[in-house]
Amino acid sequence: MVETAGVVGRGSIRNHEVVSKMIDFDQMIDNYLFRESKPKTVGRYYPSEIGSCLRKMWYTYKVPKEIEPQLKRIFEAGNIVHGFVVDVLKSEKNPHVELLKTEEPFQMKVDDFIISGRIDDIILLKQNGETILVEAKSAKTVEYTREPSPAYLMQLQLYMHHTGIHKGIILYIEKSTLKSKVFNVNYDENIAKDAIERFKKIDECLKQEKIPQAESKHRHGWGWMCGYCQYKEECDKAGKEERKWKQEKNE
Ligand code: SF4
Repeated sequence: MVETAGVVGRGSIRNHEVVSKMIDFDQMIDNYLFRESKPKTVGRYYPSEIGSCLRKMWYTYKVPKEIEPQLKRIFEAGNIVHGFVVDVLKSEKNPHVELLKTEEPFQMKVDDFIISGRIDDIILLKQNGETILVEAKSAKTVEYTREPSPAYLMQLQLYMHHTGIHKGIILYIEKSTLKSKVFNVNYDENIAKDAIERFKKIDECLKQEKIPQAESKHRHGWGWMCGYCQYKEECDKAGKEERKWKQEKNE
């Protein structure tokens, strides 16, 4: 008979402890997710990054760092959730929706650079024949999400702008419960153009070796990004040097 931890004697619990030391599953996950990260190429940019701090984006090109294992797990959890979304969308049990494409490659040429990414899903609503772009995002909780993140909106607007499909949804899925929240998004040319301008700006900064402004430190509601930023140390140091240089200039 198999004994169950928690209802057996102390000796058995010790046995379980021995087993848990033999199988370090966290380490196994990290091994599984490990792959050499390739340095990014200036001139190739990603829609998923353009709504976040431009200085952070600049650092990812100029000072490439290995993605921390914890972050890789979060990305992988997002992939797993997206796989589930695809299963739901293509299921015969949901005949009112047809999954037209998934992980659809996206490429857009602007000036002399390329914007490259993947559109999560494209679906057809059979009821009215409407085609809709889907951007699926995993979240810790959906309960308090009142509106979609501006960064996700910018990404989706860019896809809408380039594909000509002017209806979209941002679909949040709660990782631990699979509860969802859906936000309808209509095309807004201004947001898409704003995204393109941001790509132009980062391209110029990278090619001319100019560091962009520390956006998240200065924009209202963006400060939380600095708490998760891998480049906080470099950014703070650059800020001190900037202040010193400005003071010296005024003297
Ligand atoms: S610390 Fe904040 S402002 Fe600086 S690069 Fe990171 S996110 Fe941007």
